[in-house]
Amino acid sequence: MADAINLEEALYHRGVTRRQFLKFCGLMASVLALPPRYAGTIASSLQAAPRLPLVWLEFQDCAGNTESFLRASNPTVSQIVLDLLSVNYHETIMAPAGKQAEQSLEDTLKNYPKGYLAVVEGAIPMGEDGVYCTIAGRAAKDIVREVCGNAIATIAVGACAWDGGLPAAAPNPTSAVGVKDAVPGITLINMPGCPMNVVNLTGVIVHYLTFKDLPATDQMGRPLFAYGQLIHNYCPRRGHFDAGRFVEEWGDAGHRLGWCLYKMGCKGPQALSNCPSVGWNDATSWPIGSSHGCVGCMSPHFWDTRTPFYERLPNVSGYGIEVTADQVGLGVVAGVTAAFAAHGVISAVRSAANPIAKHESPPDQQSGTRDDAPSSSPNGS
Ligand code: SF4
Repeated sequence: MADAINLEEALYHRGVTRRQFLKFCGLMASVLALPPRYAGTIASSLQAAPRLPLVWLEFQDCAGNTESFLRASNPTVSQIVLDLLSVNYHETIMAPAGKQAEQSLEDTLKNYPKGYLAVVEGAIPMGEDGVYCTIAGRAAKDIVREVCGNAIATIAVGACAWDGGLPAAAPNPTSAVGVKDAVPGITLINMPGCPMNVVNLTGVIVHYLTFKDLPATDQMGRPLFAYGQLIHNYCPRRGHFDAGRFVEEWGDAGHRLGWCLYKMGCKGPQALSNCPSVGWNDATSWPIGSSHGCVGCMSPHFWDTRTPFYERLPNVSGYGIEVTADQVGLGVVAGVTAAFAAHGVISAVRSAANPIAKHESPPDQQSGTRDDAPSSSPNGS
C-alpha cells in the first residue's frame, strides 16, 4: 500500500469492500469482548490511524505462527492487518535477502526509534553465548535485545517466544528462553499457543490502534480477552462431560457421536483460551471440534507439563485428589464469564495515556486451577 492513500482505498485495491471492512470491525469488537457499538469506534480509529511499522523476528521456531498469520483469509484478516501495518522486516515473507534484508532492519531501527511494533516468533538460545541461533553473524539474544528494547511494544507469538516452548523442553540443550527472560523489563504482550491464533494477534493490534493502549493482561502478560476463558467452560462437549458420556477409545461409538474427550487426555479443564469461540482456519473448526482433545498448548511449558498428551488429567480444580470422571463431571464451573465480559468494557475506557499493559489476575488463578498457576520453568528460565 502506498503511504499516500488511506486505509479504505488500500483495502479497496486489495479487493476488500467497505462491507467486509465493517464486518471485520464487528468481529474485532466481539473478539475483544467489547459491546457491539464499539465496531464504529474501531472503524473510525483504524481509518485515521497512522500506518505502524512492524518488525517480525524469527529465531528457534517452525514458522507456524507466520503460517497462522498468512493463512488467515476470511474475513480478510491478514489483508487488513497488512494494510494497517508496514511490515518492514520479516525474514520469511520479505522480498529482500541477505545484506538488503538486514539493511531494512537497520533502517527501521534508525528511522523509527521507539516508533515500531516488534513481533517475536521462536525461542532465544542463551547457551554458549547464543551461538545456537545467529542471523547475519549476530546472536539472536543480541538482536532481540536491540529490537525489542527500542520498540513501542513487543508481542511474543507462540509458545516458543513465550517461555521457550519446544526448544526449551527438557533437557533444553541450548538453554532456550522466551522473550520475557531474554529481554526483561520491556513492554510485552505474550500470546502463547502452538501456534497463536491470528485473530487474537489482530485483536491486540486493533486494540492498540483504536485505544492507543495495549489490552489488559493476566499475570503472565497474556491478553485477557484471548486467555481469560477456561476452554472446558465453553466447550460444546461440556454437556457430555457433565452427563458422564466419555469417549473410551479412538473410533468408538462415543467418539463418533462427539462425546467428551476427557478420558482421552483432553486438557481443556485446565487450559485458558478463546479457542471455542474464535476457532481456527477462518473459524471452520478447532481441535476439539475435530474430535481431538486439547493438548494445552497455551499453558506454561506445555511440552513438559501437559505430556503425555493422551493421559487423563489426574486432578481438577476444587477436588485436589484424583476423582472419577463421573465425579469430575459434577463440578468445575468457574466464575469466568463475569470477569471476562467486564474486561472488554474496562479496557475500552482505559486512559490512552499509558501504553503499558495492565495486569489482572487470570480467572483460572482466581478459581485455583492448575493450568496457569505461576510455574517455575523446568529449565530454570
Ligand atoms: Fe470439552 Fe475437553 Fe472439557 Fe470434555 S474435557 S468438555 S472435550 S474441554
